[in-house]
Amino acid sequence: MDTLIQPAHKVMIIEDDLGISSLLASQANSMNLHVNCANCVQDAINQLKTYEPDLVLLDLGLPDADGKTFIKTFRLNFDHPILVISSRTHESEKVDALNAGADDYLTKPFGLNELKARMNALLRRHQAQNSAVQLMQLGDIEVDWQRRIITKKGEPVNLSPIEFEILNILATSRGKVVTHRNLLAKVWGGAHTDDHHYLRIYMGHLRRKLENDPTQPQYLLTVAGVGYRLEV
Ligand code: CA
Repeated sequence: MDTLIQPAHKVMIIEDDLGISSLLASQANSMNLHVNCANCVQDAINQLKTYEPDLVLLDLGLPDADGKTFIKTFRLNFDHPILVISSRTHESEKVDALNAGADDYLTKPFGLNELKARMNALLRRHQAQNSAVQLMQLGDIEVDWQRRIITKKGEPVNLSPIEFEILNILATSRGKVVTHRNLLAKVWGGAHTDDHHYLRIYMGHLRRKLENDPTQPQYLLTVAGVGYRLEV
């Protein structure tokens, strides 16, 4: 059975010290993670519109606000792990950051091996937590999200990485409409939110591969003028 290549986990580094930021980025790259950097809280919050990180590395002393402000905003919508990396060593700082919703705390200066070990531990734990919801059944279609294996009537179905991502986004909001704009921004980035033809092409591919009758879809439904919805 064919499996698809797992896309890299995404990391967001929020740090105003460029030296530390690039050190963290090079470590994340060496772990085959995809990296986006932000240098203040507002920059990071703006990036969340189009970049959903699997792990956040967060400094606390940022130029526009305290890093804890970011933690509180992030936790309204996301449960992905946050590792605080700060030169603040006082216990009350750690307690406050953890209470705000951080998952772990590393004090500067830090060892690179410890950094990597903590990042890996957080990613692993998060993946394990989610593995309970890693299987989806749609009629005779079965999706194993973690192993990225899709079968229809027991036969393997090969989806391209983009097709898989679209299906995954629709499944995350199962039953609810996902707007064209939202889908385009998540899959292709903020510069493509008006390129509706991309979606028509890829939804066509997905329907041909998954639906019994692609012209009368049962699962991948069009919500005219708005977006798409996965019927479950
Ligand atoms: Ca700082």
